[in-house]
Amino acid sequence: MASRRPLVAGNWKMNGLRASAAELARIVEGAAKLPAVDLLVCPPATLLAQFSAVVSGSPVRIGAQDCHAEPAGAFTGDLSAEMLKDAGASAVIVGHSERRSYHKETDADVRAKALAARRAGLLAIVCVGETRAERDSGRALAVVGAQLDGSLPDGATAENLVVAYEPVWAIGTGLTPTPGDVAEMHGFIRQRLVARFSAEGEGMRILYGGSVKPSNAKELMSVANVDGALVGGASLKADEFLAIAGVYR
Ligand code: PEP
Repeated sequence: MASRRPLVAGNWKMNGLRASAAELARIVEGAAKLPAVDLLVCPPATLLAQFSAVVSGSPVRIGAQDCHAEPAGAFTGDLSAEMLKDAGASAVIVGHSERRSYHKETDADVRAKALAARRAGLLAIVCVGETRAERDSGRALAVVGAQLDGSLPDGATAENLVVAYEPVWAIGTGLTPTPGDVAEMHGFIRQRLVARFSAEGEGMRILYGGSVKPSNAKELMSVANVDGALVGGASLKADEFLAIAGVYR
């Protein structure tokens, strides 16, 4: 089996001001004691340049939360993957359920954004996940399978793409799937990745996201084919984020 280096990524969403660099500095300090895991913090775009300077020389990386598919042009208010890279990002989250739902992003939009990330030299973290109604009606695997088919670009590699499985109903709710349900879904995603990308699919990391906190991280991160976490709320506090990443000691 391919050995995959775990990744714990924090999605700060629309939270954080320049003063939040103090929290990031605490993450940088703690990261020195966590050599076995990649750490990524995704602040709002306004903080990318400042945060990149704060992590400089440390193993912590900075990512963005969304990008436009085009490299430049008349797209008021949008940011291209090239701009994010220029501001110091090394990764970008695409297809987060909040973007899919509030901004009506389709699988085709997400695929175009993942391609833009590749073009700019950014790691794309592509989010997929079912709603509560989809799970309750037994369609979770079919929904996620279709999202993978539509959102992942051809030619993706373990170097340039990470999948984040985030059940929509688990995001920000305190609810999590059972370890058995996580194992079933991550095993299913792995099969699909290997079927489509062969050895690269074996090497791609699959993160779990949705109400990960220090108290449940060990159980969730121990599940087969869970290669780390995408953390929302708990990533805003350095001690909680580091405690989650500390599972990989
Ligand atoms: C997220 O939005 O990516 C997320 C996982 O949020 P939370 O950890 O707050 O559920």
